[in-house]
Order: sequence, then structure tokens, then C-alpha cells
Amino acid sequence: MEFRDLRAQYDKYKEEIDSAILEVIHNTSFISGKQVETIEKRLAKYVGTKHCISCANGTEAMSLVLTVWDIKEGDAVFVPDFTFFSTGEVVAARGAVPVFVDVRRDTFNIDTVKLEKAINRVIDEGKLIPKAIIPVDLFGLPADYTEIDRIAGQYGLRILEDGAQGFGGSIDGKKACRFGDAATTSFFPAKPLGCYGDGGAIFTNDDELASLLSSLKVHGKGSDKYDNVRIGVNSRLDTVQAAILGVKLTAFIEHELEDVNRAYRLYTDKLKGSVETPVIPAGYVSSFAQYTIKLKDREERDSLQVYLKGKGIPSMVYYVKPMHKQGAFSDIKHNEEYYSVTNELCDVVLSLPMHPYLTEEDIDIVVDGIRSYSDNRYTA
Ligand SMILES: *Cc1c(COP(=O)(O)O)cnc(C)c1O
Repeated sequence: MEFRDLRAQYDKYKEEIDSAILEVIHNTSFISGKQVETIEKRLAKYVGTKHCISCANGTEAMSLVLTVWDIKEGDAVFVPDFTFFSTGEVVAARGAVPVFVDVRRDTFNIDTVKLEKAINRVIDEGKLIPKAIIPVDLFGLPADYTEIDRIAGQYGLRILEDGAQGFGGSIDGKKACRFGDAATTSFFPAKPLGCYGDGGAIFTNDDELASLLSSLKVHGKGSDKYDNVRIGVNSRLDTVQAAILGVKLTAFIEHELEDVNRAYRLYTDKLKGSVETPVIPAGYVSSFAQYTIKLKDREERDSLQVYLKGKGIPSMVYYVKPMHKQGAFSDIKHNEEYYSVTNELCDVVLSLPMHPYLTEEDIDIVVDGIRSYSDNRYTA
């Protein structure tokens, strides 16, 4: 069994994917081929934003937005403590300070009560200027944008939605990657919508931001690539990846999003009473980048993982370490008591195999593995 079975997906779409790749090779339009513009248009339409600007990866997508917003030394940007390193890295890379905020135990997403407290602490200290919030749609579930919008409005902060794991999720029918002033996603192969290498995109309704991003990502181009009006970077989605995404987006819309949600319902029904399963609030849809259960403590989580591995069942720990404990951020002072939930989650979470091609038989094997672990453990 695979943790995320990319091979099963390729087997199903082999003909379409192979011919999409071959078309790019035949046209030798490796950079900025027509498939790039086509996928940007389709992505913007699906998400419901005016603009989609593709780029090299999900990390660069965030960096480009923070660059246009001129986030710099002396600024504070609020980031969940429980996320992938990138979300804080892009802030520190600009010389600004990522202020880590604890998450909610039920949704794994940024705790808006603690967010507001963190903003007020930064204001009271008077050393940094609060500029932006980067909520993360962790494991596929959109963050609480109703509250985040209210807080951003009250304190005059911008919102950058990190939808690297969230593509396809929604709140009351409104798709992820359209919340906030700008949103980003990643097409890293294991994400909900992945390509066959690195790739990313930015979504926004802001015309000026969109035009600056399009310039920045191609060496600060003006009227063309050889007219350079600002210092930029080289951050493009290549044509082969765009062509692959063309096939995969169709599969994602036609059945994959539904299929991961079917897997979620099966897991959750079958695991009832055995372990704590993910909570999806009313009105929310997750794209299930991960299906994450919670165990009692680190010892139980780690021994379950070893037990499952012995039965050939893969699982992963996202994340072993809170952001505030990462060595790269050791110069930022923090107070442990602000992070009680993230500290606990890092000890107890375990992500189970999850992808659109997971069969009910696979799910039964995983569930039986977890059940037999509990039985052995508590009757021994
Ligand atoms: C994967 C990921 C990123 C970075 O995306 P890349 O394409 O790998 O650069 C950023 N944020 C989160 C939450 C992610 O999971």
C-alpha cells in the first residue's frame, strides 16, 4: 500500500498524460508555452478569482506576494505554529519576523482568539509593525476566514492564504485559494493537485498585484523580458508541468475531490470509537491533503506507527516539530505557554494513507491494523 499512490493515478491517465507531455516536446515550447496560459485560466475559473499567476513552486508563490507587499525588516507577520516550514521561512527570508500563533486542536488551523492576542502583544511591545496574516489551510481544510477577515479588517492587516494543501477545499461553496487579499498553492506531486515536479500558483482579484507578480516572476520584466524595470526573480511554471496539470485538473474536478471525501467518510465511520478522527466543521469541505488521527501521547503514536509499518501500512507524522522550535527560528524569543496545543499535536498526530485511488479494502486493512494494535495493547 502507498501513502499517496501517484502511480495509480498515472496508470489511469497514462494516455492523456503521455500525449500532453509529447505535445510540448514536439512543439519545443518548453518555457511559456500555450499550456501555461490555458491552465492559469482554468485554475482561476475553478477557484473563482480574476487572476491566477503560475510560478516555480508554492514557496516562491508566497515570497513573490510578500515582495510586492514590501514586507521587510521591522514587520511582524502572523503564521500558525503548526505548518510546513515554508510558511515561516518566506517571512524570515524578507527580514521580517514570523510571529507564530497556536492552532486549534480540532481543526489544526490557526486559533483566531490566540491570533488576536498575539497581534495585541506585538502592538503593546511596540517593536514590530503588524503587517499581514498567513493562515494555512492545513491538511486540506480551509482556515476560519470569517474570523480572520474580521481581525485583519480591525487591525489593518493583509491576508495571504497559504493554500498549498488546501486546493479544492471550500467554505459554504466558496473555494479555497480565493480567501484573503492573495492566496497561493503548490503543485508539489503529493499535494491535492500535484504535477510531476515543482510548481505553484498565486490567486488574486487585485489587478495591480497581478501585474506586478507577472513582472517580478520574469526578472522584473517591463514590456518584454529584455526590458527590465525592477529587480525580480526567475520563477516560472514550465510548459511540461502545465500540460500535466491540464490532465490532472480535469481528473481532480471530475472525481478525485469526491473520492478523497469518500475515503474520509469510510475511515471516519470505521474508526469510530478507536481513535480521534478529523473534524470538518459544518459548511466546510476538505481536499484531504492528509487524513490525520490523534493518539493519546507520543509513546502511543510512535508505537502505533511502528506496529503499522510491520504490517506494511505506511503512515507519516505531520509535523514532528512546532515552527517555534525549529533551529532556524531559535533567535526569535517565544513563550512556551502560548503553544500548548501545537506542542501536544506534534506528539499525538499520525497521518494515514490518503489519496483518491485508495480502495475500501485498503481502508479496511488500515482500520484493522489500528484496531488490532489497540486490542493487543490493552488486553496484554
Ligand atoms: C508544500 C507546502 C508549501 C510549499 O510548497 P512548495 O511547492 O513545496 O514550495 C507551503 N506551505 C505549506 C503548508 C505546504 O504544505
